[in-house]
Parts: sequence; C-alpha cells; structure tokens
Amino acid sequence: VTPYPWPDGAPAAALVTFDVDGEAPHLWRSRADGGPRTAELEQRRFGPRRGLSRLLGLLDAHGLRATCYVPGYIARQYPDAVGEITAAGHELALHGDLHEPPGDLDPRRFRELTLRSIDALAGIAGEPPVGFRSPSWDMTPAAFDVLAELGVRYDSSLMGYDHPYRVGDLVEIPVDWATDDAPFYRYVGRGDTRPPTAPAQLAGAWADELAAACRFGSLLNLTMHPWLSGRAARAHALDTLLTAIRDSGAWTGTAAELAAWHASTCADGPRVAVAELGEAADG
Ligand SMILES: [Zn+2]
Repeated sequence: VTPYPWPDGAPAAALVTFDVDGEAPHLWRSRADGGPRTAELEQRRFGPRRGLSRLLGLLDAHGLRATCYVPGYIARQYPDAVGEITAAGHELALHGDLHEPPGDLDPRRFRELTLRSIDALAGIAGEPPVGFRSPSWDMTPAAFDVLAELGVRYDSSLMGYDHPYRVGDLVEIPVDWATDDAPFYRYVGRGDTRPPTAPAQLAGAWADELAAACRFGSLLNLTMHPWLSGRAARAHALDTLLTAIRDSGAWTGTAAELAAWHASTCADGPRVAVAELGEAADG
C-alpha cells in the first residue's frame, strides 16, 4: 500500500474535531415524537453553555487548532459561545441547520437549509465556511452536488478510506465510529441500558488509535461533542490524549487545511464519482 503523503513528512495526521450539537439533534428528532423533553434539552445545552469553553481552553493550553461543526440553529442561539471558536483561531464548519440528516430532506430543502446555515456561520466567522459534516454521518449523493454548487470544498462524513480522498468535486476527510465519543459517552436515560464508557478507558483506546495511525500512516479524526466530552472527567482524560498527540509527531491542524493540502498535492489520489456512491431508489 502506498503511504499517504501527509504534510511536513509527518507519519500520520491527527484532527481534533467537535460537533457542537447542543440541543439541535433532540429538537429535530423529537418533532414527530411528542416534542422535546426538558431533561435531554438541559443535558445537551451543557455543551454550548459550558463544555465547549472548557474544551477550547484545553486546546489553547496545548497550542492545538480544531474544527468545530456547528448547526446553524446553535450559532444563532449561542453567538457568544460559537464566537469563541473563531476568536481562538479554530475552524467553523457546517453541520446542518437543526441537525437534519440530509437523507431526511429533499435536495431543494437541503440547499435552503445549507444556505441558512452558511449565513449563520459566516455572520460569526466573517467568512463563509468551506467544510461540511453531515448530521449523524448520514450522507446522500445529492448533498455532494448541492454542497459543491454552494462553494463548499470538503465533507467529513464518510469512511471509504482512512486518508483524504475525492468524492465528486469535494475532498472527503474521512471519519470513524471508533474515534467518535458518542457511541461511548452518549447516555440519556430512557432505554439506554449500557453505562457510558469510563473516560480513562476511552482515552486509552484512542491512544492506541493514535499509535496505529502513526504506524500505518492513516488519519486519526477525533469526533467529539462538547455536551459529552466537555464533562469534567472526560475533559481531564482528553487532556492526556492531547499531550500524546503533540508528542507523536503526527501532523495537526484544521480539517480545512488538510482538505486544501489534499486538493493541491494529491491530484492523482483515489476518486469516487457521486454517481458511484449508490443510494436506494426514491420510493
Ligand atoms: Zn452532530
């Protein structure tokens, strides 16, 4: 296997990314389900109220820059908290308007809501976002075409490679469920039977992911949610992992920077046409 040419000749790349979901996913999902529940709203509001700022403080202490994917609704509800992201030099990128998975929308509605989110994020960052991460990592072929038309340059939602690749006109910065905090930390009561993973255990598993990325030259794309990873003991465990990232020699930066690197230096890398992505026929 040809190794991927990471920037600066680094053995791997490590991205620190946050999906600043807050209460948006619960508002979207509960529309047809009796409306939102106070307990889950409050649990999730912890993210923009408190968790985000704590996590940004950690990044600052380590001199690391991150990418924050923020639903338009959250940017409008919490302009000060979201403003901290860009003020500290991190990337602000798209994540739906009310965290609607693209598969729940027809392309026209997806386009309208994406334009609305671009306005919300540009109003804070002072420039339009160049990146998109689909809510719940549910992506559609049509969404790629809409995003390209709106000037978005990369997506970070799919898992077809473990290094950047091309999907249609966009660069794909792949993700991995194993390095997402949600399957390990998300616990909202009602029907959740499995207790959340202990922070030190998850940080240990992710340190193994980092070592493996450096060995095999792959991308470590950490996906975290401030309402989950911003809790005290979890932030404490993440602090240790950030030290390991700094010491590993892996390249770090924003997803937009990595996408720009890929676009400018890896023209003959793997390419997937939008038509090849495949989707069940419209029913
Ligand atoms: Zn999300």
